Amino acid sequence: MLWISRLLLLLSLTFGHLGAPAQAQVQAQARYDHTRIYQVELASAEHVQLFQALELASDSCSFMGHARVPGQKLTIMVTSHKVADFDDLLQSYNVSHRVLNHDFQALIDANYREVAPKGTPPDQFDWRRYFQLDSIYAWLEHLAKQRPEVVTLVDLGSSTQGLPIKGVRIAFGGENLTSVFVESGIHAREWIAPATATYFIEQLLNSKDAAVQALARSQNWLIFPTVNPDGYRYTFKGDRMWRKNRSLFGICRGVDLNRNFPFHWNVTGASGDPCRYDYSGPSAGSEVETQRLVQFLKDHVQSERIKTFISLHSYSQLIMFPYGHTPERVENYEDLKEIGQLAAQRIKEKSGRIYRSGSIYETIYPSSGGSKDWIHGLLQVPITFSYELRGPPDSEDLFILSAEEIEPTASEAFAALQTILEEAGKRGYYQSEAATTDQTPSSSSSSSNSI
Ligand SMILES: [Zn+2]
Repeated sequence: MLWISRLLLLLSLTFGHLGAPAQAQVQAQARYDHTRIYQVELASAEHVQLFQALELASDSCSFMGHARVPGQKLTIMVTSHKVADFDDLLQSYNVSHRVLNHDFQALIDANYREVAPKGTPPDQFDWRRYFQLDSIYAWLEHLAKQRPEVVTLVDLGSSTQGLPIKGVRIAFGGENLTSVFVESGIHAREWIAPATATYFIEQLLNSKDAAVQALARSQNWLIFPTVNPDGYRYTFKGDRMWRKNRSLFGICRGVDLNRNFPFHWNVTGASGDPCRYDYSGPSAGSEVETQRLVQFLKDHVQSERIKTFISLHSYSQLIMFPYGHTPERVENYEDLKEIGQLAAQRIKEKSGRIYRSGSIYETIYPSSGGSKDWIHGLLQVPITFSYELRGPPDSEDLFILSAEEIEPTASEAFAALQTILEEAGKRGYYQSEAATTDQTPSSSSSSSNSI
């Protein structure tokens, strides 16, 4: 009888249960076991060239930004089979460095355990866990059903892979209000961004704080938590570190949608190679998701009086304003700089976290084809800010922010948003149309009057 039990054991190991091959049930999923995260310091022009060459040559090293200038610190994710080679390279060229993480998969596994199960009812939505696309959309629909007088579901249309791009319009009523547009989740792996956008919605609808209630009623709101739904969905099934959309180009997929907007497209800080993480696309505005946003914003910038545009990203703890493609200053640079610094100050007072503020070009790295440059430069929306949320620039976790940080991150971001709107209001950016024709906001010569 022993042979029968051995045979049964063998069968169960080979086929799982009831004869179905176990292999067929396992979906291919990227793994990062023993993947290391390094932070290197580029001490010289030789180091800069070395890492520029490495980025071009190796797809085993994922760069967070590009090697640009001596003195720069650069974070690089190195896959397990390359760590010995990489370490050798650092020794050979005397590159000072530290290892931020030795086993990235452990972090990802922990992060996946913080995701609410599929089918979690919308009345159990919270900010202690991460939620998948279906759950976020179900929650938005639930809000529109519960509060139809205030919340309207808005669908920008379908994505490359046919998913809807859903958001909400929140309007408590009031004549001739200006609107705030919040774009979030354009980079798929930055999970804290959709979580923060939904927190904004929750606060605007349900806060008991009189100041927040007044703020909510002072503007209309257009909030889109996941403008790259294909990419976001893929981070749960395929690759937690996926950034781009899911368009197919030969052997590689994905356009970085935040490099695809039709304004000074592909001039700097973007790649022409579909296999790179910052591929700008085959042409300006080539992607369906970009087109949906562009069309909606063009159609509504005047009718909704959109004067404020906020985009949510992670990580690095920055509050940035245009431009990204040039060091040239926008016409209301001084206002945006002051407002950004006050918003960062508000965060420091609230949570102690340090956020830096400045133009995209000054604070993070040059990049072109971003939504902020387009909306400010082309549609002339004057108050345009982009957050890089937690963690800090030298984060050991990169985009894998623990769920216990969702609420503190989102609430400090919301406090900063309050400051941005209060300060922009004080500077005259939200005056009624009649008033703005008579009075120009403090240091802005043309931006807010021309739409
Ligand atoms: Zn991003």
